[in-house]
Amino acid sequence: MGMKTPEQYIASLRDGRELFMDGRKIADVTRDPSFRVAIETAARDYDYVNPAHRAIRTYTMENGELGNRLFQIPRNAEELQARVALLRSVSILSATASSLFALLHVKDEIGAVNAQYAKNIERLYQHCRDNDLRIAEVITDAKGDRSRHPAKQDDPDLYLRVVARKPDGIVVRGAKLHITGAALVHELIVLPTKAMGLEEVDYAVAFSVPPATKGVKIVNRSYAHGEMSTFDYPVSGHHNMPEGFVIFDDVFVPWERVFLCGEYQLAGTFAHALGLWERVGSLIFAADRARLMVGAAQLIAEYNGIDKASHVVDKITELIFYAEILRMSLDTAIREYETAPSGMVYPNALAVNVGKYHAASNYHSMVRPLHDISGGLVVTLPVEADYRNPELTPYFEKYLHTKPGVAVEDRMKLYNLIRDISADAYGGWELVTTLQAGGGLTAQKIVSYRTYDLAGAKQEALRAAGIARPAAPQAAAARRA
Ligand SMILES: Cc1cc2nc3c(=O)[nH]c(=O)nc-3n(C[C@H](O)[C@H](O)[C@H](O)COP(=O)(O)OP(=O)(O)OC[C@H]3O[C@@H](n4cnc5c(N)ncnc54)[C@H](O)[C@@H]3O)c2cc1C
Repeated sequence: MGMKTPEQYIASLRDGRELFMDGRKIADVTRDPSFRVAIETAARDYDYVNPAHRAIRTYTMENGELGNRLFQIPRNAEELQARVALLRSVSILSATASSLFALLHVKDEIGAVNAQYAKNIERLYQHCRDNDLRIAEVITDAKGDRSRHPAKQDDPDLYLRVVARKPDGIVVRGAKLHITGAALVHELIVLPTKAMGLEEVDYAVAFSVPPATKGVKIVNRSYAHGEMSTFDYPVSGHHNMPEGFVIFDDVFVPWERVFLCGEYQLAGTFAHALGLWERVGSLIFAADRARLMVGAAQLIAEYNGIDKASHVVDKITELIFYAEILRMSLDTAIREYETAPSGMVYPNALAVNVGKYHAASNYHSMVRPLHDISGGLVVTLPVEADYRNPELTPYFEKYLHTKPGVAVEDRMKLYNLIRDISADAYGGWELVTTLQAGGGLTAQKIVSYRTYDLAGAKQEALRAAGIARPAAPQAAAARRA
């Protein structure tokens, strides 16, 4: 019980979980080279010894003991700010605890329908907090033919569903795709991917199981393979995380781990709550990354002697606009926080969704100025091993020189950073992930439309136009969009 050390975290992964990767069954994930960096990445989050980390990553719990701030339920703006600082300091494997926050967010609403579900959520929360556990967000179903509902698919398991109800629990079958870090967590929190209808009662199911539960199989995929030089891959060589294709092959879930089973009217509530907490993490990451892109673009322009060119200043200014809009969205989301009936405060949903949408929909066009300014070396720079070859080093020093004060090695490091984040395996992964993770663009549009103060805006328009009659009520169809 209590906070884990990095070593205890690593040892906790040796629990018989059934993992696969690159055509192999993984015998011991803690000794497998394909997972080495990902495990180191996750284990670093358990560093509470470094005083700088300790202040950000811990808090005093109600019982007076120190706990991981990941489990602190924010009750005011300062605690929300502290959560943002925490999420900046840890890896994605801590950030995916947003699924636990989604459960806490809906606990009272769910509890009003079935008090046992609320108790189960509270029990899971305490279990995760007291044992310093990591949690995956297991939401996205395989989904089959997108134009058809879950119950109308060729195979009824294309959305995860309940296949049996027993006195002591339920049996579930299905697969959840793209699950970040599923292989390296302690709890798989499974939630419905969307709202469900009357015909979909078996698909309205939420629960949590450890990855080592019988019938759970996780097939992993990563943009980072085995050993990667941290000179050539300064970001992904240090920090990476596999996604899991998580198969639930008739998995038994005891009732005390079930949070929804058949109450289809509540399925959408989970998906909505998760979207909020997950997008907060995405927005924090996107704002930091945008600032990094500004810095990298300015630095490479300076190294190459083009920083005074008007077209370069213009392109860097575009990047600055992008970075600042994201930073301001995040600031607004925290400053204009909202409060749930339970007293938990959460970031402003409109600001989060607008910021996340802006980040995702403009990211690809923001990579363009970075690549434009940097030139072809982004992808053609030879690797470190060639640079270190004594026969070649003098040629590198001669031909990659730009001007006094710019070391060739530093210029190479900067090119490697730009390539790694935007043009190589990890960079390609980011192009897709920015659009899809946290729900696609449409999801953020739906929430923004629903959350915006349309009534207030219409009042403004009525007043400006001099119309005395009250506005017609919003069309039902539009409200449902
Ligand atoms: C790197 C990465 C990490 C991720 N991590 C997680 C995670 O940890 N947990 C998790 O649960 N999920 C995770 N996701 C999944 C992510 O949330 C989904 O990729 C996203 O919601 C889109 O779903 P999809 O991939 O099935 O694409 P689709 O739903 O197939 O979307 C593709 C396109 O089809 C459109 N579309 C889909 N359905 C319809 C329809 N009925 N009518 C009209 N248009 C439609 C969409 O709007 C979109 O334009 C991750 C994804 C990535 C890429």
